[in-house]
Amino acid sequence: MRCILCNMPLFLSHHGICSQCVKNLPKFNRVCYQCGLPHSLTTKICYRCRDRKPYWDELIAVTEYVNPLKKLIHHVKFYNKIELTLALARLMILAWYQKRQMMGLEKPDLITCVPLHHIRYWSRGYNQAELLAKPIAKWLNRDFYPYLLHRKQYTPDQKNLSLKERMQNVETLFTCRQNIAHKSVMLIDDIVTTGNTINAICQQLKICGASNIQVMCLCRTLL
Ligand SMILES: [Zn+2]
Ligand SMILES: [Zn+2]
Repeated sequence: MRCILCNMPLFLSHHGICSQCVKNLPKFNRVCYQCGLPHSLTTKICYRCRDRKPYWDELIAVTEYVNPLKKLIHHVKFYNKIELTLALARLMILAWYQKRQMMGLEKPDLITCVPLHHIRYWSRGYNQAELLAKPIAKWLNRDFYPYLLHRKQYTPDQKNLSLKERMQNVETLFTCRQNIAHKSVMLIDDIVTTGNTINAICQQLKICGASNIQVMCLCRTLL
């Protein structure tokens, strides 16, 4: 087995990506603990988040939405390369442990993922966020609730919409199916772009009683 990125033989084949390539991934400069976007203040939380607080509490991303992860996510979503998800999930858990050391993150009580609408699920055959979340729940030894959230209606692909349309689109789109009172939740997605979708989800999770929400993603688009 060889490294997905540099093609060198792997010492531990199940890792998928070699330690040198992990080390070479693009790094974030200073980012806000809550939204994951760059900021220059010496505080943990940026102005934007203090002004309009998101419903989630912490956001952990492996890199910006740039290569090599951008390309790998594309392969997973559009070329059925689902075998890549385990290596990508491993990058997420490494980033999480790193942040845990820096920020003192708590281990969440349960893990869930952003659901795909069933029409897209049928056409794609899998939800990439679910494939990323499952091994993470196992490694953290926590319950995995892939169907905690229900997506209410079909939405056209977000990337073809304007920002305004996207924002209108996500309103009341998700419902939480369970009482999760006093539980801390980790919500997993592949890419966080505007944050509107996850914010709508997190609002529902908090309504259903979630005490704390960590959002974990592979890539965070810098706006
Ligand atoms: Zn490599
Ligand atoms: Zn922020």
